[in-house]
Amino acid sequence: MNLLQDKQVAIVGGGPGGLTLARLLQLNGAVVKVYERDLSPEVRIQGSTLDLHVDSGLKALEKAGLMNAFKENYRPGADLLMVTDQYANVVYDQHEEVYEEAFGEAHFRPEIDRGPLRRILLASLEKETVVWNKYLISLSENEGGWLLQFKDGTVASADLVIGADGANSKIRKFVTDSTPVYSGVTMVEGTVYEAAKNAPLLWELTKGGKVFALGNHRTLITSAKGDGSLSFYTGCKKEESWAKNSGIDFNDHHQLLNWFREEYAGWDVIWEELFNNIHTHFILRPQYYMPLDQTWVTRPNITIIGDAAHVMPPYAGEGVNMAMKDALELCECLTSEIFPDLRSALKHYEQQMLARASAVTQMTLTSTAMLHADDSISNLLKMFSSEEEGGE
Ligand SMILES: Cc1cc2nc3c(=O)[nH]c(=O)nc-3n(C[C@H](O)[C@H](O)[C@H](O)COP(=O)(O)OP(=O)(O)OC[C@H]3O[C@@H](n4cnc5c(N)ncnc54)[C@H](O)[C@@H]3O)c2cc1C
Repeated sequence: MNLLQDKQVAIVGGGPGGLTLARLLQLNGAVVKVYERDLSPEVRIQGSTLDLHVDSGLKALEKAGLMNAFKENYRPGADLLMVTDQYANVVYDQHEEVYEEAFGEAHFRPEIDRGPLRRILLASLEKETVVWNKYLISLSENEGGWLLQFKDGTVASADLVIGADGANSKIRKFVTDSTPVYSGVTMVEGTVYEAAKNAPLLWELTKGGKVFALGNHRTLITSAKGDGSLSFYTGCKKEESWAKNSGIDFNDHHQLLNWFREEYAGWDVIWEELFNNIHTHFILRPQYYMPLDQTWVTRPNITIIGDAAHVMPPYAGEGVNMAMKDALELCECLTSEIFPDLRSALKHYEQQMLARASAVTQMTLTSTAMLHADDSISNLLKMFSSEEEGGE
């Protein structure tokens, strides 16, 4: 704890990475503020559900003393996966297997919605740890520490800054010159609310779990959420410039439906349920990753975790798990007695994080390519059967 004695720690970004880190540091007596751009904790959290892995996301929650809260809020069965072809023919279905809760076993990847995960982490923090409506726009060096500048014109100071501000991090450039590389795949993400009513056929098909629909180099992934909504994301190979030049108004579901019919020509009409709702909010997400060999010279008072450090496509389900593992390893380094100074502790964290991120990014890129290849279904089924036989 000595390294953080009398130090003010500022975490920028209250996503899973930043909040996990704040909790772990507070358990070790550190003085921490989290600056988050969202206006309040009640802002609706979009996005799919998250499966947590035993050696990363779940391990961090265990160390944070939050496993009981997790078990009260996770969604049994939401991890069950179905694979279909483009005509919605089911080729693989985990719902046919007996569901067993198996906490502690590597293959068990329980799912939790983003909203409940954020609520659990927020409830575990000391009062007023998170400062809402603080959109960081820049940093400047200040008497051995940092001055944080926010969009609303206010400033805050800190001795140590940790960027947990996601894929479009404003902190990253103060740590490294590395820039994200386009993966070749662009996603369109959306959520259908009251899905039993607004997308009844797909709601039934998804059975409270996830559907991976694969065909002609495209993917469509749906997941049921606890609030009765169905979140989904398409994945197609597109030029990087398509995100800027498509000419589509992503607020107009008619335009999205027309785009989907053209882009997913030959797919069953059942999938159109996702695009036929006036209230669906669409987000365009070109997918980036950080160079596998990225490295930098450690600075004494600033670092990055989670997507800010190693954004990657979601096709191996590792992003949130990596963010929470970063939080755990960074906290262990900052509170260990073995490092003589902050820079040494940050250096150790960054070395292990970069090596781990490189391996996981490589795996994710392999999986991204496999899911968007000619023989995506047969390759995925082969991968599942080799896992069942105990291989990797
Ligand atoms: C469609 C989709 C599906 C996914 N599915 C999965 C999955 O199944 N499993 C998985 O492991 N991962 C998945 N991911 C990836 C996962 O969401 C991320 O890897 C994870 O959320 C990263 O956590 P983080 O805390 O680093 O960043 P984020 O979750 O991005 O959190 C960053 C936080 O910082 C805040 N912020 C950003 N900029 C600023 C600023 N300038 N000032 C202040 N605050 C700021 C944001 O509001 C946010 O709260 C998916 C991603 C997408 C897009």
